[in-house]
Amino acid sequence: MSQRITILPETLTNKIAAGEVVERPASVIKELIENSLDAGATDISVEIIAGGRRLIRVADNGHGMSREDALLSLERHATSKIKVDSDLERILTLGFRGEALPSIASVSRFSLSTREAASLEGTEIIVEGGRVREVRACGMAPGTVICVEQIFFNLPARLKFMKSAETEAGHVADVISRMAVSRPDVSFTCTNDDRELLRLQRSDLQRRLAQIVGRESSQHLYPITEIDEYATITGFLSGPALVRSGTQAIYTYINGRFIRDKVVQHAVMHAYRGVIDRGRYPVVALFIELPPEEVDVNVHPTKHEVRFRRQSIVHDAIQGAMEKVLSRSPWLVVASSAASHTTSGITGQAYRERIAAAAQSSLGISPHTEYRPQPLKQLGTELSESAVLQKDNVTVSEPAISFQPERSLNEPAGYFSSLSIIGQFHSEYIICQSGSELVIIDQHAASERVAYQRLKQQCLAGGIESQRLLFPETVELSFSEVAVAVRFNTDLAGIGFELEPFGGTTIMVSAVPRLVAKNDPILLIRDVLADLERFGTSGAFNDALESLLSRIACHSVIRGSHQLGNMQIKELLHSMDQTDFAASCPHGRPVSHVLALTELQKIFKRT
Ligand code: ADP
Ligand code: MG
Repeated sequence: MSQRITILPETLTNKIAAGEVVERPASVIKELIENSLDAGATDISVEIIAGGRRLIRVADNGHGMSREDALLSLERHATSKIKVDSDLERILTLGFRGEALPSIASVSRFSLSTREAASLEGTEIIVEGGRVREVRACGMAPGTVICVEQIFFNLPARLKFMKSAETEAGHVADVISRMAVSRPDVSFTCTNDDRELLRLQRSDLQRRLAQIVGRESSQHLYPITEIDEYATITGFLSGPALVRSGTQAIYTYINGRFIRDKVVQHAVMHAYRGVIDRGRYPVVALFIELPPEEVDVNVHPTKHEVRFRRQSIVHDAIQGAMEKVLSRSPWLVVASSAASHTTSGITGQAYRERIAAAAQSSLGISPHTEYRPQPLKQLGTELSESAVLQKDNVTVSEPAISFQPERSLNEPAGYFSSLSIIGQFHSEYIICQSGSELVIIDQHAASERVAYQRLKQQCLAGGIESQRLLFPETVELSFSEVAVAVRFNTDLAGIGFELEPFGGTTIMVSAVPRLVAKNDPILLIRDVLADLERFGTSGAFNDALESLLSRIACHSVIRGSHQLGNMQIKELLHSMDQTDFAASCPHGRPVSHVLALTELQKIFKRT
């Protein structure tokens, strides 16, 4: 039987589109805030009742709409943001699909009030389940107010999937926070059932981040500024002292748009390998600016995903830029320089602020001006009113002390050698002094880090130094371990092992990495093969390489307590200065701990 085909009525197609765009109150709010930002708003206030299930109200002071535009905005595929095919390849606004308003209006009781600044009155449009019920003039301040009541009242299937008011309110706060980080120059407020959830004044990125991730946490963030002709990467990264157990505090933006992207996420996590433990996640606000034609944002209706034209270049640019910051261990630089400055009355906090300020001013941004991580440009509209507003509020003041971030950030070399050695504690810790700070170094973690970095360099240079054993040794293994040894034989030779099957479950070892030859290399071989068996299902040697190297490094140093002479301590400190990522051992544990004089004074109640 042939089937009858019909074109669906628009109220139904809008409902279908809503299925993709409008998942829950938070997604409505994301779309409405995007519209407000595209309209050049500098103040956005969100009000929700019952987590947005009963009411969502978003008000902005953007450029508003004329009566004709307001009516048009509710039509499907009606947008002021793109006009012709080729615009799709150069999206500079957050919206462009012309779908959000009609979709939202089709699944709620909806009202839109809007007024252009030059107009004497505003327009109010009432829509119910996608049908316009009323259009009338109204008095209001310039800008736009959208009310969404009883979301999904006509879509019972969706209504069932909504969570409790608290859960939905949480999602709303998350969405607003993400957008707020991208636009510190815009103020955001949000109330739920008349209780304030968020109040964010206009400020700069650093202060905005402090409000979102917490003031204490924000002390452990370090600026990143990498500008090249293809990509510009700016923002803040956390050091090893600030980690989270999930990815919730990784804020990544492409051309001002918050995105969740596997490539970007992978680059971020790779940059942190060896800096933080596995299973931990950093706090990061990363703004990646690319030529718009290099990213396709028309991948998913919610626009959370993007596609890069040159994926691996983007990946490596992000990883490289972040590693550049992390390998300098800026947390050490800050601590040590702050210590040497304390005598002249500069606190660590002031110093940190100065570093951030100096790094920002190298971007051409004064620390006290609104720091905009390159907001999206407004198409066809002028942002002049809000821009002027901000400029008037800005007080531009130079930092009191001129400070060269490049020099200080580039020259952490010497930090460890510059410490004055006090001695050793428990044959496990090296105790030093730096200005008014007590520095405690875990000698095992430190030598492990040095060994690891040395191995990595040798590995990159083509092969790890191997040493032949005077008398080859045989090792008893399990069948699967022997199989692993055979499968990865050439790869293992590259990191210094010469292994040969000797029949049954025995292999013969004739050479091992030089660094471990003195210790118990057989124990290491067992560990390495066990690791490989776990990781290496299909030629995954390279994936496992980092952890194998850290395993070798771990075996190359003496564990437990071990007395060190002054010369040995000096040597160790010196090699730490030659080492990137010196601040944490390959497993991500800290290598040194700083105890400030003020902390001691607190302990002894001297303050
Ligand atoms: P899109 O944002 O993809 O263009 P929307 O359905 O979200 O589609 O909005 C349709 C149009 O309505 C926008 O292109 C814009 O011109 C107008 N508009 C929506 N919200 C606002 C607002 N808050 N202020 C001014 N204009 C708005
Ligand atoms: Mg939109």
